[in-house]
Amino acid sequence: MIRAFVAIRPPGEVIDRLVGLQAGAPGRVSPPENLHLTLAFLGEIPTRLLEDADAALGQIKAPGFALTLDGVGLFGGSKPRLIYADVAPCPALTALQAKVAQAARGAGIELEARRYSPHITLARLDKRGADRKRAERFAADRAAFLAGPFEVTEFGLYRSTLHAHGPVYDRLKAYALT
Ligand code: ATP
Ligand code: MG
Repeated sequence: MIRAFVAIRPPGEVIDRLVGLQAGAPGRVSPPENLHLTLAFLGEIPTRLLEDADAALGQIKAPGFALTLDGVGLFGGSKPRLIYADVAPCPALTALQAKVAQAARGAGIELEARRYSPHITLARLDKRGADRKRAERFAADRAAFLAGPFEVTEFGLYRSTLHAHGPVYDRLKAYALT
């Protein structure tokens, strides 16, 4: 079984901006090599299904687009569990995400029904709730964060290996946007 997801990896300058943004964040801060924008989480799937997903993803035809990161948010309500960089509304991203989800479902992968909410995880709060005040102040102080627009010219299929020290991601495939 392979734990897999489909994601966009921002360019180096944007990664640098995100690393700067992470300074002073509470919780478990994502290392630079892990920063990404998830399009779909495929779950733990057999190799065969991953190959089918790869074939379907390779068939996607979608244009490249410009993406802007705008502000910092928290997931988890009164017990924040995650700090993220927010993504400015982008119809081309929404359209690509829908195509990726359709491709994965067409390959036989069950995706979560939850509404897609694009974000780049900056840090995870292990003690849910305990860091609430710090996390809220962190996000509020960085509401004016802006990065981009940057060109998205490809997306990738990633393997995730969970370790005690955090996940390790490997890009298995890249798909061009044209
Ligand atoms: P960890 O689980 O150790 O905190 P992680 O969440 O970064 O690390 P994975 O759980 O393998 O690593 O997730 C890979 C990507 O897929 C991440 O962007 C994660 O947010 C996303 N993801 C994981 N589970 C789900 C899920 N159930 N629904 C939607 N996205 C998910
Ligand atoms: Mg996870």
